[in-house]
Amino acid sequence: ASRLAGVEMAPPDPILGVSVAFNKDTSADKLNLGVGAYRTEDLKPYVLKVVRKAEERMLAKAENKEYLPIEGLAAFNKATMELLLGADSPAIKEQRVACLQSLSGTGSLRVGAAFIAKFMPGTTVYISRPTWGNHKNIFSDAGVEWKEYSYFDAETVGLDFDGMLADLEAAPDGSVVLLHGCAHNPTGVDPTQEQWVKIVDLLQKKKHLPFIDSAYQGFASGSLEQDAFLPRYLVERGIEFATAQSYSKNLGLYAERVGAMSFVLADSDAAQRVLSQLKRLARAIYSNPPVHGARIVSEVVGSEEMFGEWKGEMEMMAGRIKGVRQDLHDALVKVNPDKDWSFVLKQIGMFTFTGMTPAQCDNMTNKWHIYMTRDGRLSLAGLSSAKAAYLAEAMADSVA
Ligand code: PLP
Repeated sequence: ASRLAGVEMAPPDPILGVSVAFNKDTSADKLNLGVGAYRTEDLKPYVLKVVRKAEERMLAKAENKEYLPIEGLAAFNKATMELLLGADSPAIKEQRVACLQSLSGTGSLRVGAAFIAKFMPGTTVYISRPTWGNHKNIFSDAGVEWKEYSYFDAETVGLDFDGMLADLEAAPDGSVVLLHGCAHNPTGVDPTQEQWVKIVDLLQKKKHLPFIDSAYQGFASGSLEQDAFLPRYLVERGIEFATAQSYSKNLGLYAERVGAMSFVLADSDAAQRVLSQLKRLARAIYSNPPVHGARIVSEVVGSEEMFGEWKGEMEMMAGRIKGVRQDLHDALVKVNPDKDWSFVLKQIGMFTFTGMTPAQCDNMTNKWHIYMTRDGRLSLAGLSSAKAAYLAEAMADSVA
């Protein structure tokens, strides 16, 4: 018998496990609305044209495959800070940003969690209830204690603003508060700018450290600038914060694992020291980041022409999702006009959070071959206009 006979089988991942089950289904009707990955109207994966163009330019340059510095590709780091904070941000000019290129959003969050474990011992991270399925794993595995704050009001299918403020008020001063920068996953419910101002007032009063998970910049509104309201507002207010950025969704670089973990701090001396420690942590985990995706980002952002093309494609992707959102809503009203389906239109970003129970989700999958996470979340990025009526029929049947 193996010396590891005592190792128990881990459960399938609640999100990525859905794709595994989907691939095994032979039904012609099947729909994968589990993972948040953009599909075309033909339900095919989409590589952005601007990414192909950048790759052609890269190939022509025949660059080498030497190791990157631990902190990543300099042009990438610069582009990534500017994308989030704006090219003329005082935080960048004053060299107050410690920016480490890391392994997409997940790897960046994980390095950030390791930093909290080591340099802010005993600090609790507050995450929204509900949140993206991997947040809890990331902080737990890094040995960081986490608790939840109220976020979603199922009655109004909106923000539980009072509950959120009350929970953050009750948290010990100096806690870390994880915030979704935009297009909250899974609820599709974001605070308004007026609400953000009040949330930030409270964070400042309580000396909490905001930690912005920025996985959907450009995907909420279609505009990179509009979706960066929160980090830019924090800079304006002079509040220090941490942030994990991902290019998986907005540049469609899912498999390239490209993103960054940054701290925006009060002075460049602190930023240098923090960056040195982020590098120390990354060195022991994966040594240095992959170069291919970082070069794509620097090519795209570094050329005015390609940057413009990227914005156009992002608007196109965000627009297609808005379109199927409307189609789904209209189809739901047609199937069952007596029910209130307005929540579908109220929510933003890639998902619709349906409020379906696990049993209702199972009905969607077992009877209708529609694959989704059991928290009731549907990825509209994987829906086509042609399939909206079928999905509506399945939803109306499942909640009946
Ligand atoms: N954060 C949130 C809220 C997400 O939804 C995701 C992906 O679905 C991520 C982070 C990280 O994704 P990745 O590691 O592919 O950048």
